[in-house]
Amino acid sequence: PNTANVIRFDNSYARLPEAFYTRTPPTPVSQPVLHRLNRGLCEELGIDAEALTTEQWAQVLGGNVLLPGSEPLAMAYAGHQFGHFVPRLGDGRAVLLGETMDAEGQRYDIHLKGSGPTPFSRAGDGRAALGPVLREYLVSEAMHALGVPTSRALAAVGTGEVVYREERLPGAVLTRVAHSHIRVGTFQYFAMGGDQDSLKLLADHVIARHAPDLAEAPEPYWALLSWAIERQARLVAHWMSLGFIHGVMNTDNMAISGQTIDYGPCAFMDHYHPNTVFSAIDQRGRYAFANQPEMAQWNLARFAECVLPLGGMESDEAVERAVALLQAFSQQIEQLWLERMIAKLGMRTEEANDLTLLRELLEIMARESVDYTLFFRLLSHLPVSPDKRPELRALCEHPAAIDNWLSLWETRLSRETQDPDELSRRLCAINPAVIPRNHQVEKALNAAIYEADFAVFEQLLAVITQPFTETAEHASYMQPPKPEERVLNTFCGT
Ligand code: AMP
Ligand code: MG
Ligand code: MG
Repeated sequence: PNTANVIRFDNSYARLPEAFYTRTPPTPVSQPVLHRLNRGLCEELGIDAEALTTEQWAQVLGGNVLLPGSEPLAMAYAGHQFGHFVPRLGDGRAVLLGETMDAEGQRYDIHLKGSGPTPFSRAGDGRAALGPVLREYLVSEAMHALGVPTSRALAAVGTGEVVYREERLPGAVLTRVAHSHIRVGTFQYFAMGGDQDSLKLLADHVIARHAPDLAEAPEPYWALLSWAIERQARLVAHWMSLGFIHGVMNTDNMAISGQTIDYGPCAFMDHYHPNTVFSAIDQRGRYAFANQPEMAQWNLARFAECVLPLGGMESDEAVERAVALLQAFSQQIEQLWLERMIAKLGMRTEEANDLTLLRELLEIMARESVDYTLFFRLLSHLPVSPDKRPELRALCEHPAAIDNWLSLWETRLSRETQDPDELSRRLCAINPAVIPRNHQVEKALNAAIYEADFAVFEQLLAVITQPFTETAEHASYMQPPKPEERVLNTFCGT
């Protein structure tokens, strides 16, 4: 077949010096099977999904066949893992096939994960198990549908090979797409080695690629720092408003572009509690739900340390200035979070006591183990459907515990003249009906892994990529887990 234009590659990262990566092809797999191709995303990216057969796509996205124009490479990066610095991490089981541009000229990395060993693999096998691949597929596509900046899933391909984790599991390769896979850890890789030339090239590459306007700023590297800080504030505030827990916010897993990347032991909370941790590898709760803003700030401080030496930013005044920017991040994220939460409650204007009203709600939710997502969804219906009230009250261990708060909320809203229909519609567009709940994700993964049944996965995917609607299909997916369905730990993400 004519494969020349299936993906039109333009590989800007591969044009950077050799110090940035190692050129390495994916390692072929024995029996690639296309479990899923994201045809909608193909279309957005200008990729001609119909140009190849299912078998051919499996060959390409399983890593057996390179399309013309692809220049596969493993990116070099360092990173703080749970606070401990590792100078050389890099893509140990991933390769960047290349980059492509959509119709608007937005550039995207096409990246394989689980594509075999690379010079950065250390003791790892370079592979991924089917479960984590499907988890990332589901959660990243759900996040996108929820409006959160994120990498996306283009395909999941089974390898026909076994990977050994705690058991023998089917292997798979995920194709993920992101504005870039440049991380805080990419900057750290060069900063720790004192390689100022590469660091500057990297910063200039990031500016040209993600924020070209910054090049015209009087102090481009300061502008880059402020830009990255603002993007993270927006991102993490958005996570917090949805009850999302990334689970492994190491500096190598924080994309400079401000997109969510590296879905491993991630999860959405069912019942609200600020200390929630799902990751089996996060023993001390470093990346617990409520810690995420502070952890983002910590990572940004590491980023600031990398860019300060650029353009003579190393004086005492410069350090003070960076510290001030990082301190402002705390207020910025708090404000962005508050704006989202106030909107989730339906208020259009902010009043002095709104934060108190919100904090009271969160206290009740934590004390009463209230399901976070379903509570806000039922609240969204209340203005037009008072009959939802018993269901909402029943989310509390003691239903009466929410009554006083509900009257305060109604009184507060009554001070803004709002048409109930309009209010409810607006709330339903902010408060999702469905999120990828852990117990549903687990069911989908188990059916695929142990019974080669992908129908459960497909159904779940269809529902969670329409998160703000409620069809008959949505109903069961809106419900919190029954006690026996509760998932306490997610996979380690490998
Ligand atoms: P993560 O915690 O998933 O972000 O991974 C941290 C580092 O470990 C990265 O450098 C990965 O490429 C590497 N890594 C994770 N799993 C594997 C594996 N199975 N084989 C090789 N490298 C791996
Ligand atoms: Mg990672
Ligand atoms: Mg990972």
